[in-house]
Amino acid sequence: MTAIRIDGNALAAKVRDRIAVEVAALKARGVTPGLAVVLVGEDPASQVYVRNKVAACAKVGMHSVMHKLPAATTEAELLALIDSLNHDAAIHGILVQLPLPKHIAEKKVLEAVAAHKDVDGFHAENVGALMIGEPRFVSCTPAGCMEMLRDIGMTDLRGKHAVVVGRSNIVGKPMAMLLLHANATVTICHSGTKDLDAQCRQADILVAAVGRPRFIKADMVKPGAVVIDVGINRLPESEGGKLVGDVDFDAVNEVAGYLTPVPGGVGPMTITMLLQNTLVAANRA
Ligand code: NDP
Repeated sequence: MTAIRIDGNALAAKVRDRIAVEVAALKARGVTPGLAVVLVGEDPASQVYVRNKVAACAKVGMHSVMHKLPAATTEAELLALIDSLNHDAAIHGILVQLPLPKHIAEKKVLEAVAAHKDVDGFHAENVGALMIGEPRFVSCTPAGCMEMLRDIGMTDLRGKHAVVVGRSNIVGKPMAMLLLHANATVTICHSGTKDLDAQCRQADILVAAVGRPRFIKADMVKPGAVVIDVGINRLPESEGGKLVGDVDFDAVNEVAGYLTPVPGGVGPMTITMLLQNTLVAANRA
């Protein structure tokens, strides 16, 4: 059996078309949704991500502002910028691209973003809202994964076993929470998990958010399972330098029922959910 490909680019295009229509309607009422993207330092991957986010805003008719700050920016300077964006009426969403340079306390910065402009869903208030089942802004990557599940008709996950490999605050934990709210029985795995292979083999839905290239092998996948690959890993030049996910795509493709590719899977959905959150923020404002 070859898995059905869940095409993140196609789904993202569909959702972005809908968002563009809603942006136009909001503009007709005098409100242009605005996103501020803040990048500190020169991390090459981050530069690509922020460029893509700004371009995506323009395509759906949103206003965006990019703040590129040098790596030597102090925490106080960054907090001052965030404070001014919090008070800027033209800005409905604020995104601080991670990782930040080591001399800046990430937690302090994320908490400084006004919760009602926290379109990344990283503020403790938004994380807590998700936890109690009253989500406001949900972290974009897990939200995008849920859209992908919905698109293949998996809305109520009652009776399904979901396994999430990874427990980061931005992917693994919110992903597990969303799956739980959709009535799945959820297992969260991490580096301390015993017999990871057996845990993964239980999964009707397997989400890989590990950050290790081709980590999930075919014998870790239950035949017919839905496999969502969140990972984005750049292989060393000696191995071709290309982008691969956390799933051993070619092998798992022969076992899974559905599979997301990398690139062209979760990545485009993440940006789409950022646009969606910004639209929601503008609507609320
Ligand atoms: P983190 O490094 O923050 O978390 C990785 C998680 O994987 C940790 O919980 C870690 O466990 C777990 N892990 C690591 N090694 C193992 C192992 N051998 N066995 C079991 N669990 C393990 O990564 P992120 O969550 O931020 O990102 C994960 C991946 O997703 C990365 O490749 C990242 O680039 C990608 N990503 C993609 C996005 C997209 O838009 N598609 C957006 C965000 C991230 P422990 O907690 O015990 O250390």
